[in-house]
This record gives sequence, C-alpha cells and structure tokens, in this order.
Amino acid sequence: MAGVDMRKIYNFYPIEPAPSPDDLPTGGDLYYECTECSGVVSSVTHIKAACACGNLSGHGGQTTVKDPAKVRVVRGKLK
Ligand SMILES: [Zn+2]
Repeated sequence: MAGVDMRKIYNFYPIEPAPSPDDLPTGGDLYYECTECSGVVSSVTHIKAACACGNLSGHGGQTTVKDPAKVRVVRGKLK
C-alpha cells in the first residue's frame, strides 16, 4: 500500500449524479474512492499510488481502474 492517507488532507464529496462506470471522468480535483477497500487515489495521480486491494493504481498522471463498478468518483477539497 503506497503513499499518503488522503483523508487526512482532503474532504471528499461524491459527484452527483454518479458518473457512468464506463466513462469515469478525470480531473485535478477528482479522486477515485475504491468501494472495496475505501482507499482513495487521485484520478490523475503523478506520484505512484494504489489502493490497498489493488483495484486502483496509477502514476505519471494516469490511474488504472481494474473494476470501475467498485469505484466512487469524489471531489476533493483541501481541509
Ligand atoms: Zn481498493
């Protein structure tokens, strides 16, 4: 398991309406929350990051989602 506990730095708010799992949006303030392990990874992470169960992993500005059905797209706001 990599990196920082994002929840200590950001508050996360689910996007409404929830985006289609087939077409997950990306953006500097958008994050993917894994509903399997509740890990959070930026949708455009530049540092190497992954959630605990491995559903989400990314680096270099791209995040790979193994199972989009187990992802909630959230907007992050700095605390
Ligand atoms: Zn996970």
